[in-house]
Order: sequence, then C-alpha cells, then structure tokens
Amino acid sequence: IKNIAVLTSGGDAPGMNACIRAVVRTGIYNGVNVFGVLQGYQGLINDNIIPMDARSVSNIIHLGGTILKTARCLEFKTDEGMEIAFRNLKSREIDGLVVIGGDGTFTGAQKLGEKYGVQVIGVPGTIDNDLYGSDFTLGYDTAINTVIDAIDKIRDTADSHDRLFFIEVMGRDSGCIALRSAIASGAEAVLLPEKATSLNELIAQLETGASTKKSSSIVIVSEGHKHGGAYDIAKKVKERFNHYDTKVTILGHLQRGGSPSSFDRILASRLGFAAVNELLKGNTMQMVGLRGNEIKTTSIEEALTKHAFKLESDLLEMTKVLSI
Ligand code: ATP
Repeated sequence: IKNIAVLTSGGDAPGMNACIRAVVRTGIYNGVNVFGVLQGYQGLINDNIIPMDARSVSNIIHLGGTILKTARCLEFKTDEGMEIAFRNLKSREIDGLVVIGGDGTFTGAQKLGEKYGVQVIGVPGTIDNDLYGSDFTLGYDTAINTVIDAIDKIRDTADSHDRLFFIEVMGRDSGCIALRSAIASGAEAVLLPEKATSLNELIAQLETGASTKKSSSIVIVSEGHKHGGAYDIAKKVKERFNHYDTKVTILGHLQRGGSPSSFDRILASRLGFAAVNELLKGNTMQMVGLRGNEIKTTSIEEALTKHAFKLESDLLEMTKVLSI
C-alpha cells in the first residue's frame, strides 16, 4: 500500500486530532503517503483531499475538535455519491482509508469497502462510548471530565441554597457518560436510558436524602431517558416532592469540546498507530479498539451489529450504595 487517507466524520470528539497525528506520522514513518480528507465523506465527494506531512500535524495533540473538520453527508449514502467518492480516491491511487467516527461513519466505510474494495479501518471516535468492540471510545473520558468539572461547580450553588439540581448530560441511547459522571461527582441519583427507574423510586431516594439531612441533591439525567429530558423530570418530581428549591441545567454541547485528557490522547495515539498498522498488514473492514488495556480488532460488521451494553454492574450498584 502506497497511499492512504484519513477522515473524521459524524460528531466531533476530543482526541480526534491526536489520532489524526498518529495516523499521519505512522504512515509516513512506514514510507506511505498520507492524505487528509476535509469534512468527512463530504470531502471525499468534493475532492477536498490534501497531502499531509509530519509537520502538518504539529501542535495538535492537545486540541479538541478536528483539524480535518467533520460533516454529516447525506450524498454519501446514495450510490452516485459513493461512486464519486471512490473515483476521487482512485484518481490519487489511495487504496487505504482510516475513518474516525461513530456507527454511521462505520456503516459508510463498510459499504465503501464491500462495493469498491477500498481497504478501510475504523477508529471509534464518539463521546457516547456506544460502540461494541472497544471498552472506551475516543472523547468519552474527556467528556466525563468536562461533566464532573461542571457538576462540581453546580454543587457549590446547590449546597449553599439547599437546592435540588437536575443536570442533563449527553447520551441518547447510552447512559455511559451519565453513570460515570454520577459516580465521579457523588450524585444522589442518576437516570439512564438503559434502566427503567420509576419516578416513585427516584422520589423515594430523594426523600431518604432529605430526611437524613442532605443539604443538596444532584440528579443526573441522560438525555435519552424514557421520562423525558431534565426539565420534564424536574417538573414531575416537583409536583410530588417539594423539599428543595429545584433547578435544571442542560450541559449540552460544552461536553464535546475541550482539550483531550491524557487518557484520550494516549488512546487516540494507540488507535491511530494501530489503524495504520492494520492497513499495512493488508487488513480491511476492521475497527481497532481498546479491550482490557490491549488494542484489538473487531470486524466493523460486529461492531455495528453486536449490542454494546457497557454499564459496569458494580458502578450501577454503587449509585445506590454510595449516595445514602
Ligand atoms: P456520532 O456517533 O457522533 O453520531 P456517527 O459516525 O454515527 O457519529 P452519523 O452522522 O450517523 O455520525 O454518520 C456520519 C456520516 O456517515 C453520515 O453523515 C454519512 O455521510 C455516513 N453514513 C451514515 N450512514 C450511512 C449509510 N447507511 N451509508 C453510507 N454512509 C453513511
């Protein structure tokens, strides 16, 4: 393999830049030309493909976002769009592609591999940690650190005013950010999309806290909870439990940004390095991931179809035990 390309696609995640750097430098170290595709699959279609050198990725390891930009590209989902993308790769004799993104990104890569024989390797880059085949995805650790930093600040206010705060965090289908944030910030309760906590249970937990003289309560709500978002839940709880002044904070997009944590920088470097090594070995349609502190491959097919229930059972149990 002589020419490879790298792109970032879907939602941005901290650590993407560190991964791009690792891909570019591992490729060049091994005598391969590396191209960067701007704006994900949109850039493949628009022929927005630029040569990268070792210096083009200097001083980016600590930056959030992605220097290659990312996009959601509907055209790539069509046969015509994918054909144009393939022709642009072919005109530069690019045979291998590293895609950094989530499940949509992998679906696109899988099709490109199957239909046109492009060698594709996926790197799991999403703050939601919702992919099978990697214990952690890029950006997840940083997002949790951002969330707990925000909760620590909210706790100061909550405590000073005897308040009950509902804090909504990202994760439409995945409660990973919510669960870890709850443990790390000492939240009183957490509502997860994977678990059907009833309002009765939540209120009982809050009542116990109030009766044992808790001066404030923090409830973390994952955005995908069946009772609705933090505003809906706060309203329903307030109708029946009015011990504290109730407030709501939606953390929103601030969870995606920021400088990657050491964990994400190292994970990104390992995964980028591994992705290029897989291409050099001739492998394709694989995702590189972290399992038990080792880098392992999973077929993209499996990563997309196997159910990724990733909530650690001890952490789930601890949400009740440690919040008494
Ligand atoms: P996140 O987890 O942050 O949402 P993602 O990779 O799942 O990341 P998507 O927007 O779902 O984000 O997908 C990224 C891009 O992948 C899409 O904009 C589209 O270009 C491509 N893609 C998604 N699904 C398909 C598909 N079925 N066929 C071809 N390409 C696809």
